[in-house]
Amino acid sequence: MKHHGGCHCGQFKFDTDLDPMFIIQCNCTNCRRITGTYALHCPYGETEVNLSGDTDSYLFKGGSGYESVAHTCKKCHVRVYNKPAPEVMDGIVSLPLGGFDTVDKLAPKVEM
Ligand SMILES: [Zn+2]
Ligand SMILES: [Zn+2]
Repeated sequence: MKHHGGCHCGQFKFDTDLDPMFIIQCNCTNCRRITGTYALHCPYGETEVNLSGDTDSYLFKGGSGYESVAHTCKKCHVRVYNKPAPEVMDGIVSLPLGGFDTVDKLAPKVEM
């Protein structure tokens, strides 16, 4: 199924022909602090999703102890995707469920 979405101001956009690999709600402290809420991650392979727009990046240590990168829209500062540490999930980008225009077609499958 095709999906698309973006940030609050619309400067950052994404689209893909595929459903996320899985949708996971992670309640760990890191994910809550990075997102400001309970995190709903939608991971894709880097080549499976088109990302467009300018972002700022913020390095943080995930639960694994390795460095992940959170990307935020340069204009509205909403978090638009994470790049997990390559030691944990190489070649993956994880989009927040809330950014999807098709959010009504997707639901979390796993909570941890
Ligand atoms: Zn924005
Ligand atoms: Zn987490």
